[in-house]
Amino acid sequence: MEEKHSMEEKHSMEETPPMGTRRIGLMGGTFNPIHVGHLMLAEWALDALKLDEVWMVPAGMPYMKAAQNILPGEERLRMTQLAILGNSRFRCLDTEVRRQGYTYTCETLEELRGKYPEDAFFFIAGADCLFSIEKWKAPERIFANCTLVAAVRGENTLPEMEAKKRELEERFCEGREIVLLPFLHMSISSTEIRERIRRGQSVRYLVPDDVLAYIREKGFYREKSE
Ligand code: NAP
Repeated sequence: MEEKHSMEEKHSMEETPPMGTRRIGLMGGTFNPIHVGHLMLAEWALDALKLDEVWMVPAGMPYMKAAQNILPGEERLRMTQLAILGNSRFRCLDTEVRRQGYTYTCETLEELRGKYPEDAFFFIAGADCLFSIEKWKAPERIFANCTLVAAVRGENTLPEMEAKKRELEERFCEGREIVLLPFLHMSISSTEIRERIRRGQSVRYLVPDDVLAYIREKGFYREKSE
């Protein structure tokens, strides 16, 4: 596997993308493991918002999940790198995995803003983020440095999401918009994938083949972990 992917992998693992005025999507996640739902959401955002690139950002130790027994950041980073092989518009940042202590999105955005002051950042997330972000550390610092893009899963959730969008915009965005991105309703989740592996069921096509091979090679998720 190492030899086959060496060229593409070099690109995906690059830590310091070049500077410029670009529209950059940031897809943060625990990615335990990364799955096709994450990748499709990133791709749909790239397309719909005319982004130049999407940078996947595996979380180091997400503080809201500290009590759970998640795989080490290095392993989730590795799976993310494998997942994006072959997509030249996707990159994987190790920023949060390398940081000591808990992972806070506001700090990541400020770090990226400092490094890439010319670029516009779009933080891509699922619908839940819209309803939980006020509880995250310093949401005002998050909104100051990016446009939030929240995936709409199913028409029936739209009115509730639109109301929340308006509320957050009034409170944090100072005239800038939050984007509601129409997306498929895919009930696939990392939790379900871990459970299936633990039960000895197939997760083929739920995660990219290279990620599946790595999970098998390492024997991840065979034991109940949370
Ligand atoms: P995750 O479980 O790996 O999911 C990553 C993203 O993908 C989430 O926004 C999730 O939305 C979305 N997603 C997953 N499955 C999906 C599907 N089938 N269809 C559409 N969207 C899907 O990661 P996470 O633990 O939620 O963390 C997400 C980001 O939020 C990370 O960058 C984390 O550091 C950040 N965060 C920060 C703080 C803080 O700064 N205090 C607190 C919490 C989270 P849903 O959640 O809607 O599934």
